[in-house]
Amino acid sequence: MRRNDNGTKARIAIVGAGFAGIAAAVTFKRHGLTDFVVFEKSDGPGGVWWDSRYPGAEVDTQSHVYSFSFQRHEWSRSHAAQPEVQGYLEETIDSWHIRSHFRFGTKVDAIRWSDEHSVWLVKTSAGEEEFDFVVSAVGLLNVPRYPDWPGLNDFQGDVFHTSRWDTECRLDGKKVAVVGTGSTGAQVVSRVAAVAGKLYVFQREPGWILPKTIEVFGDDQRAKLSKPWPYRLRRWKAFLKVARDAKGGDIYVPNSPANEAAVARCMNYIEEAFPGRPDLQKLVTPTYPYWGKRPVMDSNFYKALTRDNVELVPSAVASVDESGVYDANGTKRDIDVLVLATGFRPAQILSQLPVFGRGGRSLQEEWGDEPMAFLGITVPGFPNFFTMYGPNTNGAVVVYLLEQQAKFAARSIKLVLRHHAAAVETRRSYYERYNVWLQKKLSGKVFDTTNNYFRSRSGRVVTQWPLTTWHYWALSKLLWRLSSRLDRGATS
Ligand SMILES: Cc1cc2nc3c(=O)[nH]c(=O)nc-3n(C[C@H](O)[C@H](O)[C@H](O)COP(=O)(O)OP(=O)(O)OC[C@H]3O[C@@H](n4cnc5c(N)ncnc54)[C@H](O)[C@@H]3O)c2cc1C
Repeated sequence: MRRNDNGTKARIAIVGAGFAGIAAAVTFKRHGLTDFVVFEKSDGPGGVWWDSRYPGAEVDTQSHVYSFSFQRHEWSRSHAAQPEVQGYLEETIDSWHIRSHFRFGTKVDAIRWSDEHSVWLVKTSAGEEEFDFVVSAVGLLNVPRYPDWPGLNDFQGDVFHTSRWDTECRLDGKKVAVVGTGSTGAQVVSRVAAVAGKLYVFQREPGWILPKTIEVFGDDQRAKLSKPWPYRLRRWKAFLKVARDAKGGDIYVPNSPANEAAVARCMNYIEEAFPGRPDLQKLVTPTYPYWGKRPVMDSNFYKALTRDNVELVPSAVASVDESGVYDANGTKRDIDVLVLATGFRPAQILSQLPVFGRGGRSLQEEWGDEPMAFLGITVPGFPNFFTMYGPNTNGAVVVYLLEQQAKFAARSIKLVLRHHAAAVETRRSYYERYNVWLQKKLSGKVFDTTNNYFRSRSGRVVTQWPLTTWHYWALSKLLWRLSSRLDRGATS
């Protein structure tokens, strides 16, 4: 490790400027670790909130809890829309005076550990630099899943993925197909339905949907909520609601009282939304338990399906030609615009960032098709390297989990500096035992009951955290030191 004269300075590279990268940057600054650079391939911060510019893009989780503990904001609504969330992240960067650390428009192509010098060689689109520590904050849900339907390239109309929305494309009066009815598809459909001449909604398999009650805050409420204590109280209430809904993790157990109660709430909503329409009720009712796929929180999707200009097609797209799409029965729908709400590739964790650890072994070799990490953060053989939103950390209160991961990294970095060590690495015994324990917690849960984005090709659930926010907080606090092994090798 290269250090300054008193041995207290560490150069840190953070890859990604979404919620995770910004959480890491602020946390490091608060811990006195100020020599960091945040590399971001997009031209601005926000991650998915930079990319997701489709009409209707907004959060599912209440904004008072889908936000940082260290940055209050005068939210305009209980569930903010994309421009406000992206603006919040810009505001966080400025209020912590860290903008000069960000290098936008700079992709990290690969990182390689030097056994000789105990540093990371970080290769970017702008050259190569050495860093003592690397934090991967590259996200889970930002590599679009593009379909490989036969004939897709022949389509003569406009076609785009929701995370690459074509803002120049006018939909008014047009014939549009939206393919996919997950969280994003549901948000897009109600907005497109309001302007399109005809909208076909392709649904391969329905998802469980609960209505989302959005509060729009008036001036008085905003003024009140901008004060520290009312803000904290609101945040705690939102936190407790997430905890209550998870019922200590029972929500993920098929046929448990918590899971059945959630199914019953969804069924009530279906009945209320489609009175006298048993055909639609049947089409939107899933056959798997709640949370078999990520549940959708939305109050407008079902209403949109009842509009005269909307047709729900209960089928995957089978193929495309120059003027339209075919469903699995071979029926063609002529369209002008094809919107791919086909989601992302979260199970291929870190597929966009080649990482080479000790002895030149790649993380991709270590994992094969089954990404795993200690608390989703550290992997033996990859010293001074931390992943955020890594394997099995999706679920619970995501932004709070990200803050815990940033703290884990900050504490570990300070441990290395305090002991004048060359590196810190997770003990293999902890990594292995943790993953055996995690697999036990995942077994018998809903995550493999249907087609979803939680599993890798081998079938292992690699994205989901099966317990609660509190479990994760406690484990990361209790185990970070015990699991860490210092490498006291020579430092240069
Ligand atoms: C539309 C949408 C809505 C969502 N709503 C919610 C919600 O309501 N509640 C919830 O809990 N979660 C939600 N999520 C999940 C969301 O992914 C997380 O909440 C959170 O935003 C993840 O932040 P992140 O920083 O880890 O990842 P991201 O936001 O994905 O950011 C990662 C960043 O890394 C950059 N990057 C990647 N590779 C490289 C590289 N090699 N070099 C340089 N930069 C790189 C990317 O460009 C990106 O900016 C939503 C996701 C989407 C897509």
